[in-house]
Amino acid sequence: MTVYLHEEDLPAGLLIDGAIAVDTETMGLVTPRDRLCLVQLSDGRGEEHLVRFAPGSLYDAPNLKALLADPNREKLFHFARFDIAAIQHYLGVLATPVYCTKTASRLVRTYTDRHGLKELVRELLGVEISKQQQSSDWGGPVLSDAQRDYAASDVRYLHQLRAELDRRLEREGRKDLAQACFDFLPHRALLDLAGWPEVDIFAHV
Ligand code: MN
Repeated sequence: MTVYLHEEDLPAGLLIDGAIAVDTETMGLVTPRDRLCLVQLSDGRGEEHLVRFAPGSLYDAPNLKALLADPNREKLFHFARFDIAAIQHYLGVLATPVYCTKTASRLVRTYTDRHGLKELVRELLGVEISKQQQSSDWGGPVLSDAQRDYAASDVRYLHQLRAELDRRLEREGRKDLAQACFDFLPHRALLDLAGWPEVDIFAHV
């Protein structure tokens, strides 16, 4: 596998077909405060592309935006809700249609409450990934090798996870329910941005 780092946009002509795995790294968890530093992409064929944004970036990234907004390209995320909000807020595009491996995991792995990426990759694929760089400073002028590897590994396995999760959703008769949840996810992210972050609007009280 090879990891490519790009500045401010994805070069043209990359990742030309199929579903695309997407992840983001930000300065923190409060989207309007914590700027988008990195967008990671993979087509599941062994190469990962990292697009880095500098402090003060105008996020003028036409190739990346076109890819993320392409209605014919499914975007695979792990915890799509956060990434969709960050992408919408900083890049101004809604990254749909969506598949979320965390949501799929919650719908089929009802025997556990452990739905983190590391846990999923270990159980479903038998691969160990490190989460050591998760809370590192993504805003610095240079990304360390460990940060690059970590960022790339967050998109590297999403296609394989999706295939296994789809088999289990099918087996348990929950594919339609999962799809309905994926279709709602962009709206859930927009609710986060619009001021209903931790409110369940379907709750009784
Ligand atoms: Mn990540």
